[in-house]
Amino acid sequence: MATDDRDLRTGRTIWQRMRTPRVPHRRLTRNIDTDVLIIGAGITGAMIADALAGAGLSTVVVDKRRPLKGATSASTALVLYEIDTPLTKLSRKIGQDKAVRAWRRSRLALTALAARIEELGLADAAQRKTLYLAGDELNAKALKRERDARNAAGLESVFLGRTQLRQRFGIARAGALLGFGNLAVNPKTLTSALFDAACANGARVYAPAEIVDVSAARTRAVATTGDGHRIRCRTLVFATGYELPDCVPAKGHTIASTWVIATVPQRRVPWPEQCMIWEASDPYLYMRTTDDNRVICGGEDEEFSDDADRDALIERKTRLLQTRLGKLFPGLDTRIDFAWAASFGGSKTGLPTIGEIPGMRHCWAALGYGGNGITYSRIAAELLRTALTGGRDPDADLFAFGT
Ligand SMILES: Cc1cc2nc3c(=O)[nH]c(=O)nc-3n(C[C@H](O)[C@H](O)[C@H](O)COP(=O)(O)OP(=O)(O)OC[C@H]3O[C@@H](n4cnc5c(N)ncnc54)[C@H](O)[C@@H]3O)c2cc1C
Repeated sequence: MATDDRDLRTGRTIWQRMRTPRVPHRRLTRNIDTDVLIIGAGITGAMIADALAGAGLSTVVVDKRRPLKGATSASTALVLYEIDTPLTKLSRKIGQDKAVRAWRRSRLALTALAARIEELGLADAAQRKTLYLAGDELNAKALKRERDARNAAGLESVFLGRTQLRQRFGIARAGALLGFGNLAVNPKTLTSALFDAACANGARVYAPAEIVDVSAARTRAVATTGDGHRIRCRTLVFATGYELPDCVPAKGHTIASTWVIATVPQRRVPWPEQCMIWEASDPYLYMRTTDDNRVICGGEDEEFSDDADRDALIERKTRLLQTRLGKLFPGLDTRIDFAWAASFGGSKTGLPTIGEIPGMRHCWAALGYGGNGITYSRIAAELLRTALTGGRDPDADLFAFGT
């Protein structure tokens, strides 16, 4: 086996209430050659395939399941440039210069993703503000420092005190940061649209096809499927989500468990301005609205990754999320239509690992950890496109192995 094998999610997700356009795929029946092989047909594989096929590289994607059957389908898809690790905290971890660069790059990636979504004509993605509520990690005073750090980096952010927060949003907390220009998407329709665009540029998707072995030679990498077919490529990319490649150093990567609920549709827009809301707490609660006025609310993370233990807690975690949501917005109808549990990856800094795998030439990993996974998928696509078309990305060092 070339990657971990995990039960990634359980329960009925909100995205299952509608049909998603099928990602065109077929079975692999022979050995093939390609410029790029991407292992994984989730949102990371889709973004990379779209970028690379669009740049004229011959691109093949394989998945041991069918497309869109991994973590992407469980995602709540609050696509934020605001990294889970506050700028002030990230500066203490990796130094101010690098932290500012990571936050700015995340902002740029989100802007680029919004442009791509506009170009693809996706109707169910919407630009949203965010509200980052004071919590046990950052109180109101620390949030003001965070605002100052963000504003100094050119990332506009506004502090709201207790009274403003209550008057404008009806939320009783000591304070919050208002952020701008983030995205609420449907992860399945976005992934599907990206694959469509990639396929229109010649990309091919093969599934189910499990890669069980990878070897790197002087000029090429070779991947072998469980059926014994070989795919020779100039560059191989692991976009395998939380099923980590065996050849990747596991240091600093953790897989935890998380739970999500989605309410019944509310009679009116659930809260003013439909901001996406999250807390400066650990573990945090986060929420967003949908286009049919439901509330998706997730959190209550636990550090273990055993799927049986995770699933046994679905009922209890559903009640907890329901109670916490009701406390924040007492007027909401918190009856539940959907509840699910999933694996969830994290890193020490909250940043992803994207780069060539040490000791394996031509083999990259694009492992977008944490609550900003989708933004990181876009960064991975940009870094790979630049590297494979002969350029040098000035931010590659921020995400490379061993940094
Ligand atoms: C509950 C939940 C909420 C989240 N909320 C957010 C959020 O609000 N905002 C955000 O930005 N991110 C969020 N994330 C994170 C985000 O969803 C993930 O970062 C993203 O979906 C990962 O996509 P991926 O394509 O890398 O992985 P996946 O979608 O898991 O795709 C990887 C694919 O690789 C395939 N694969 C693995 N090994 C092999 C092999 N050996 N051979 C062939 N195929 C293989 C798997 O079958 C799988 O289909 C959330 C995640 C979860 C679980």
